[in-house]
Amino acid sequence: MRGVVTTGCSLVKERRRANLDMKNILLVHTGGTLGMSGRRPDALKPGSFFRTVRERVPELTKLARLEFDIFSNIDSCEMQPELWSRLAARLAERLPEFDGAVITHGTDTLAETACALSYMLPGLDKPVVLTGAQRPLGEIRSDARLNLIDAVTSALHGPKEVTVCFDSHLFRGNRVRKVSIAEYDAFDSPNFPVLGVLGVDAKFSPGLQRKGGLRLAERVDPRVFLLRVFPGLDPSIPLSILPHIKGLVVEAYGAGNFPSSKELGRSLIPVFREAQHLGVPVVVISQAPRNGVDLSLYESGSQARLSGAVSGGDMTVSAAVVKLMHGLANYRGASLNKYLQRSVAGERS
Ligand code: ASP
Repeated sequence: MRGVVTTGCSLVKERRRANLDMKNILLVHTGGTLGMSGRRPDALKPGSFFRTVRERVPELTKLARLEFDIFSNIDSCEMQPELWSRLAARLAERLPEFDGAVITHGTDTLAETACALSYMLPGLDKPVVLTGAQRPLGEIRSDARLNLIDAVTSALHGPKEVTVCFDSHLFRGNRVRKVSIAEYDAFDSPNFPVLGVLGVDAKFSPGLQRKGGLRLAERVDPRVFLLRVFPGLDPSIPLSILPHIKGLVVEAYGAGNFPSSKELGRSLIPVFREAQHLGVPVVVISQAPRNGVDLSLYESGSQARLSGAVSGGDMTVSAAVVKLMHGLANYRGASLNKYLQRSVAGERS
């Protein structure tokens, strides 16, 4: 301010005060393109992430007091359910000391990790924001810089739930899907409005209000299978898989439709019946990304329902698969059916 003379001593005090007023954000790195070094078209190698963050985005430290935590340094195609559980446990342990967390993650399976964390951290009452990038942080025209600043801003001021921050938008974590490999708007949320827009101003919606305090429900059973219906699908293939799995997600056509005519020899009804016989729960979702499944609309859907299949509503593929894994490890019978059909963390309307 003009006319105000600040002595060295009061400057130090001011800085100290400003620093004390700052919120604490935990930045957990899991890997992905954002933190990799190396030039395309060579294979990207995980680099020394935090040094690059400090060099490339020094203003992050003006937004919040950051603590860096390297959870892993992997391409997200290597992310597995056991790692989701460990990540959820790490957050449950560390979040009480922080105002929020940012998780840097590869974009390929970022949606699945976001879903898993949303189910595994019931009662979450702080923002947990996942972000990534299409270009490494060290590269010119990288989207990583803005994504990191936006993610930290969202962790400071955004809704208290698991979200995904990408390309100036904040999404509910269990509603996203990756839609682009080479554009900066890599994610969308086909059945749920954005929770925040980070434009000239950052504007956020309130998000979920979960009660009861943060708990950890980290168990998952990955023995599920995803069956996408297509013309020509031989039912004997899914029938042969059923004895090896504990749960099945069927990605049906439209409102929950699939072949059921006996004449053409490719009816999938025997698959639903055999699943019921073996006690394998079946969730039906749609290949159409927008809107949700209604099993009462067509004959095939009705028959699936009679064989015990449940509607996955408007869940994304990732939300349904991960929810089934989580449900199988935590519920049985009727309570599993209920769990699958209700909104646990805002993943279905
Ligand atoms: N293959 C990378 C990953 O998912 C892609 C990315 O981060 O954008 O780890």
